[in-house]
Amino acid sequence: MPFSLPDLPFDTSNLMPFCSAETFQYHHGKHHAAYVTKLNDAINGTPLAELSLEEVILRSHAEGNKAVFNNAAQHFNHSFFWNCLAAAKEKQTNAADAPTTGPGPQISTLLDRDFGGLDQFKAAFNQAATTLFGSGWAWLAQNGSGKLEILQLKDADTPLIQGKKPLLTLDVWEHAYYIDFRNRRPDYINTFWDFINWDFVEKQLS
Ligand code: MN
Repeated sequence: MPFSLPDLPFDTSNLMPFCSAETFQYHHGKHHAAYVTKLNDAINGTPLAELSLEEVILRSHAEGNKAVFNNAAQHFNHSFFWNCLAAAKEKQTNAADAPTTGPGPQISTLLDRDFGGLDQFKAAFNQAATTLFGSGWAWLAQNGSGKLEILQLKDADTPLIQGKKPLLTLDVWEHAYYIDFRNRRPDYINTFWDFINWDFVEKQLS
């Protein structure tokens, strides 16, 4: 069963000023779609085609199969990123819209324990996202002993290959923000905090 491009879990016109519908048209409809197509083309007819996406990521990474790994990891990273996003509160007009009310009880406790609070976590995450040179992703992840960590990962790298549980991510490839922010990556990063689906983040902990 080939991998497929997931639908976006929100109305793409409701995430301004973070991301315009035009950005989603390219970022989801062209970039993410291309990763899925290239992944399917690369694994078609091979034993990898029988595996789950996480298994393909781990196997291709272990085998140094960059062509498969990059596209599989980017498919995972982008699918995860979309789930981390929610419409602006004032645009949430029906019960199906995800809440953006702030971190839930479990994640709040861990952010307090491991970063000293939400504000300190945001500052550290912003720093990681801003200073990542070139293309990549800023992540909040949980390590094997339960501690939260901020990861600054290049290109297609993903917490899965470090055996860590992803909780939240922000794509800082230029294709994620150039239409809306041009070269102003820090403005894109600052706006992110108003469009996080904290309910999704909380669910990753259980
Ligand atoms: Mn991207």
